[in-house]
Amino acid sequence: MEMDEFLRCLNCGKTLGPKSKHVQTQCTECLLNLNFKTEDLDNREIDRNLQKILDFFISDVNAAFNKDPAANTLIEVLAGYPGVKAVLLYRIAHFFWILRMPFIPRYISDIARDLTAIEIHPGADIGAEFFIDHGSGVVIGETTEIGNNVTLYSGVVLGGTSLEKVKRHPTIGNNVVIGAGAKILGPIKIGDNVRIGANSVVVEDVPPHCVVVGVPGKIISKKGEKIEKIDLRHGDLPDPIAIAVSSLDKRIKELETRVLNNTKKRHEDIEIYYGKHGGGI
Ligand SMILES: [Zn+2]
Repeated sequence: MEMDEFLRCLNCGKTLGPKSKHVQTQCTECLLNLNFKTEDLDNREIDRNLQKILDFFISDVNAAFNKDPAANTLIEVLAGYPGVKAVLLYRIAHFFWILRMPFIPRYISDIARDLTAIEIHPGADIGAEFFIDHGSGVVIGETTEIGNNVTLYSGVVLGGTSLEKVKRHPTIGNNVVIGAGAKILGPIKIGDNVRIGANSVVVEDVPPHCVVVGVPGKIISKKGEKIEKIDLRHGDLPDPIAIAVSSLDKRIKELETRVLNNTKKRHEDIEIYYGKHGGGI
């Protein structure tokens, strides 16, 4: 048989077999990028990261139990909470991600997405006491960083705004609550003790101890008022538009009074009566 009747892997050149029987252009190893050797791994790093999965997971389950008034027993939390399942599978996928194992971390996160409708990229870096309540539609991108004691509700997206392979997802501080449907986009920083209202769209940095509402997100500084460690008041949100309108209204009234006081009636002024509804004399 002539050599040109054989197909070769376009990537590594390995012979794939007769052209009549093979249609793919790369060998299985190249297609899956499975060039991974366990002997290259540092065993101490494996030990440390395995221990971390367990430690983090205990803190996650405790967080779910403490933050959800509907949780009566721990077994209920372990067996019936999609957020808890998604976070455990993320912790395992992240372990393989840290070891730079190809394919498997993404496959685990895809199974988690099928099971729970929560999509957490295995590359995301998430701290302790992480809780996703309900969780359908949550998406957490690859370069997201999340501190300790953070709570997300369903529909929250921590998304990227760049096609480049750079840091393109948000960094979230400690003790942050993000309400249902909120979108936080780009490599922005959300400070510690921040509450983000439902359906807000946040595209700029948020300093610590603030509340954010609206589209685009309006930042309301709450300096001095430290948000407590477990804070689920995500429904207790100020209305910045109403605050702005009422302060404008107050200012107009002040100016009206000042103008009226400064205007002295001259003798020749004719006073016109516009009627009760402004209809004329
Ligand atoms: Zn190949």
